[in-house]
Order: sequence, then C-alpha cells, then structure tokens
Amino acid sequence: MADKLTAVKGMNDILPPESARWEALETAVREVMRLHAYRNIRTPIVEPTALFVRGLGEVTDIVEKEMYSFEDRLNGEQLTLRPESTAGVVRAVVEHNLLYEGGKRLYYMGPMFRHERPQRGRYRQFHQIGAEALGFGGAEVDAEIILLACALWKAIGLQDVRLELNSLGQPPERLQHRAALIAYFEQHADQLDEDAKRRLHTNPLRILDSKNPAMKALNDAAPKLLDFLGADSLAHFNAVRAILDTNGVSYSINPRLVRGMDYYNLTVFEFITERLGSQGTVCGGGRYDYLIGEIGGKHAPAVGWALGVERVLELLKEQGNTAVDVAPDAYAIVPDAASLPVVTPVLQTLRGMGVAVQMHAPTGASEGMGSMKSQFKKADASGARYALVFGTDELAVGQVTVKALRDGLGEQRSESLTQVAQWGHRLQ
Ligand code: ATP
Ligand code: MG
Repeated sequence: MADKLTAVKGMNDILPPESARWEALETAVREVMRLHAYRNIRTPIVEPTALFVRGLGEVTDIVEKEMYSFEDRLNGEQLTLRPESTAGVVRAVVEHNLLYEGGKRLYYMGPMFRHERPQRGRYRQFHQIGAEALGFGGAEVDAEIILLACALWKAIGLQDVRLELNSLGQPPERLQHRAALIAYFEQHADQLDEDAKRRLHTNPLRILDSKNPAMKALNDAAPKLLDFLGADSLAHFNAVRAILDTNGVSYSINPRLVRGMDYYNLTVFEFITERLGSQGTVCGGGRYDYLIGEIGGKHAPAVGWALGVERVLELLKEQGNTAVDVAPDAYAIVPDAASLPVVTPVLQTLRGMGVAVQMHAPTGASEGMGSMKSQFKKADASGARYALVFGTDELAVGQVTVKALRDGLGEQRSESLTQVAQWGHRLQ
C-alpha cells in the first residue's frame, strides 16, 4: 500500500455526524438573515494579494505573517487565499456597482485561511459567517447588525456570550490619540515587548490589541481613544447604545477594543465568551466607512461582522448541544439484487414524498446482498424507525413488509407496492 496522505496541519475534515451540526447552524443562519433582509453573496476564495494589503493594512497580524500567498504560475500574478471576507465583498460590490441604487445588506459563509499556530479554536483553514451592510452611515444600522447577531445567538441557543463595545472615532481623532499613545509608550519604552517596539511608530493602536499578558497593565493605563472623540463621534456612539438599550441588549464598553484590521472607524464590537480559553472571541465587527474608497469605489459607509463557525460550534458543544438526529426514516432490506428494478422506483417515490430512505448495499461488488440477519443489523444501526423488507415472497404478491424498529418494535404490516403514496406518508 502507498504511504498515507494526511490533511494539511491546521486544516480539518468535517465529518458526519459532526457535519450535521454545521448544517443546522447554516440553516439557522439562512433563516435569521432572511428575517433581517440580508441576502447571500459568494465571492472567490482566491483574491489578488493587493486587495488584502490595501484593505486590511500593511501593519496587521494578518498581512504581516498570516496570509497564504503565492504567485500564479501562468502569469506571475500575486494571489492570496482569503484570510477574511470583508475585503472581497467590498471588491465585488465596487466591481459590480451594487450600491448604485442605495445600500445593500449582504451575508456570506465559507472557509478562510490564516497561517497561525493551530490550537483549540485557532486553525489555518477555519470558517466564518459574516454580515455586511454597505452604503448605510447611520447608527441605526450599526445597532441593526448587532441585533442581527443577537437574534442568531437566540435562534441557535448560544448562551454565555457578552458584548463589548467601543468607538474608534474618525481618522483625525485617531491621529490625535495616536500621538498621545506614542508619547505614552515612549515614556514606558522599557516595558514594551518586541511586537510593541516594532509597532510603536508604524501602528501603535495595534499594541493595544496585544495578547501578551505582560503588556496588559501598561495597555490598561494607556490613553483611551474614547477620550479623544469629538461631538459627532460621541453622538454616533450614544445613538448605537440607545438602540441597544431599548432592545434589552446588554454590553460593556471596552476602551481597549481595537480589532485586528485597520479599516474600522466609529463603532467596533466583539462577542466574547469565557468558556473557550484564550480563543474567546466568537464574533467581531464594526464600522468601516473608508474601506470602499480605499478599494477604489466611490466613498460609501459600511458596517459588518464575522463570526468564527468553529468557535460558535465549540461553545454550543460546551453547553451540551450535541444532539443531532441524522437517522433515515426507513431502511430498505433487499435480499436479492435481482429485485432492484422493482424496489428502486418505490424508494424514489418515497423520497419524492419526503421520506428519508437508506437502501441496503453490500460493501463489495462481488458479494451478494448479504443475509437477512446482517441486513437487519445494519437497519438497526442506521437508527431508522422502519425497515422496509422487499423479500422475494413479498414482491411475488406485489407487497413490502413494513417493520417498526423503534417505537412499537417488531410490529409489522404488509403494504401494496402500487399504493406507496398511501402508506408512505406514515413513515415520515
Ligand atoms: P483573534 O483575536 O482570536 O485572532 P481576530 O481578531 O483575528 O481573532 P477576526 O479577523 O475579527 O478575528 O475574525 C472574526 C472571527 O473569526 C473571530 O472572532 C474568530 O471567532 C474567528 N477566527 C479568526 N481567526 C481564526 C482562526 N485562525 N481559527 C478559527 N477561528 C478564527
Ligand atoms: Mg487573529
């Protein structure tokens, strides 16, 4: 046998029955998005590297060290596997002029790629679900998109997440704060770690986002952006808060919350849990009024968030939400392969009526269908509620035996093959 090939480190297979939990989450997301009038967008996984360098900012963790970039072998173009989806969505919105008649509310789901150290809740291929409201500048849409996330938590039964909120103000306010921040960190230069030293003059705000516990006290006492906000920025922040308050959404204000990309302004927020160790941010987002212009579109405001699917599912599991019923309704037992031309149309009719049917099939091509006993064993293991026994005797008189495997175990009755529509609905 040839050597076994394995998946790339940090990139996971999602197998049944676990995959059913993913499908359930995706179904809930589609419904919540529909209720909030957000529509689906699907953009490519590969984008020009320049999109992320320009969009996310050169001095960010993602662009500095986490991107999977490569050169297109055919034309030398610099390409990157998307590390996030906001930049791609904005590119698509600009490219197709989607904002020509007003704002657009969009959502996406899919894999993202970042070269990080794999650990619980942190992978190299991971999945995000995101919502973006583009072309809207008012605080009511910041609030709407936060309420959308809250509605999703409710729909999937997610508890133990708390909302943290901050405002990053506007670029001139950030510049003033930046100067104060540099002065403060220069005064405490001896306490800066390597990352912080490197960022002091390129992107000092990013220092506040440090995950190094040794930097916490220093960061806690740093000048706060909130103290540099002008009247308009404060009014925007307060308007978001007021809507959250009237909707009963609780939150805390975290003046150190800056988020990992450069494109944010005004409102930023994260949903955080204490139950997943240090990978506790399940969802993050904010307003990005300058990104559309940055990527070459006509200036338009926008706000959005992205959640980490693996982290949300892990948290749901922590809360005991593991039950997923993936059993078929019925298992078809077929003792003789010669009867398949008669059996398969009956199964297709049942499936067409919404009955989930699993047909017995032997594992090797040269074997027969297997004994009745072994087929019943398989039927039982499948979790199906009924066995449909297409024995040769039954088929000879145009019938099938329907046998209960769960409730009313052992009960059985004969049904006519020509009357599938009449008995099929009872199997659902
Ligand atoms: P973190 O601070 O944990 O690195 P981030 O700020 O880089 O997160 P975002 O870029 O805002 O994360 O992505 C939004 C969400 O995507 C995160 O809150 C998290 O739930 C999830 N996420 C980000 N990176 C990963 C990863 N490598 N593996 C799994 N999930 C991730
Ligand atoms: Mg990160």
